[in-house]
Amino acid sequence: MAKKEKIKPSDIRKISQVLFIVLTIFMTYLFYSRGTAICWLDPFWHLQTLFANKDISTTVSFTEHYIGDFVLPSVVVLGVFIAIALLFGRIFCGWMCPFGTLLQCIEKISPVKGKLHIPHELKDPEMKYVILAGFLLLSFITNQTGFCEFCPAGTIFKGMTGHIIIISLPVFISVVFIGLFYGRKAWCSYLCPLGAFFGLFSKIQIFGIKPDGDCVKCLMCNKACPMDILVAEKYIQKGKPINDGDCIKCMNCIDACPRKILKFP
Ligand code: SF4
Ligand code: SF4
Ligand code: SF4
Repeated sequence: MAKKEKIKPSDIRKISQVLFIVLTIFMTYLFYSRGTAICWLDPFWHLQTLFANKDISTTVSFTEHYIGDFVLPSVVVLGVFIAIALLFGRIFCGWMCPFGTLLQCIEKISPVKGKLHIPHELKDPEMKYVILAGFLLLSFITNQTGFCEFCPAGTIFKGMTGHIIIISLPVFISVVFIGLFYGRKAWCSYLCPLGAFFGLFSKIQIFGIKPDGDCVKCLMCNKACPMDILVAEKYIQKGKPINDGDCIKCMNCIDACPRKILKFP
């Protein structure tokens, strides 16, 4: 009798990605005709709103969303995302973000991935933190959610409801180009301000991926990592949990390890 295949951690992540794509499309249509269609599912929109509103004491909920008669304060939504990040670091990126999933699919089917190389000077994961700080400062100064005018994810998910933001179209096309030639990592590791925000929690996350057993230095985990993290050298061989700002908890390294020494949570 054939041996039953065990469900892998990355399979559970894939199921979550599909569910969040479905939820995003469903909620986008549910909020059809509202200017904020998809925004309430976007942690970066809530974060910018917080900076734009400034005085939390008088605007505790930043803004309110209605699901039928039910009122959902923005502060609650952002609080839930932050709580998840405190527990599991950048898991939003690997398991929930519909735009990250879209870029992952583009990378998978791209016939031109790897045909162009990013100049070494531009390969800087710290760049996204500068972009994050820049857009939060912009929100603070202008009282607006400035990034939403350029957001490539907003282009597609707002676009589905007929709210096309013309100025974001060239950004969207550029990011698709980046995804096709360089893969998801180029946007998610170097440029995305929301990825940067969640990356800040990776250092203090409560539950990380950690080693439990002897590493044979086969480097299969490095090869499987879509964010090109030196999993074995930087973390596992030093007996440390993977608290890298770029780890999106995709679980690929756990599946790839022949010794099965990587554990989560
Ligand atoms: S880095 Fe940005 S686009 Fe990529 S998965 Fe995270 S939030 Fe989504
Ligand atoms: S370190 Fe592991 S879980 Fe984190 S991004 Fe790389 S492969 Fe995925
Ligand atoms: S795949 Fe496992 S055994 Fe191989 S280097 Fe990574 S942690 Fe070590």
